[in-house]
Amino acid sequence: MVLGEARELSFAHPNTEFYLPSYPRTYSSAGIHNGEPTGEVVCVACWESHMNVDEIEHESTCPQRHVHSRYYRSQQ
Ligand SMILES: [Zn+2]
Repeated sequence: MVLGEARELSFAHPNTEFYLPSYPRTYSSAGIHNGEPTGEVVCVACWESHMNVDEIEHESTCPQRHVHSRYYRSQQ
């Protein structure tokens, strides 16, 4: 799959690549449920991350730098 010119793809588009990390089990003693998502979104193309997919500070060459959520695009 080539992501080179992905400009108008939404976050939920199947051609986009993001990773939603979960807390490791060792954090359970701090009151966080095992395997619960951290709420962070990681771009697997440049490995930048943010709690909001629209706020990820992608590398300038990242093929996914134009990818935003449907909500973000609806606000433009
Ligand atoms: Zn990126």
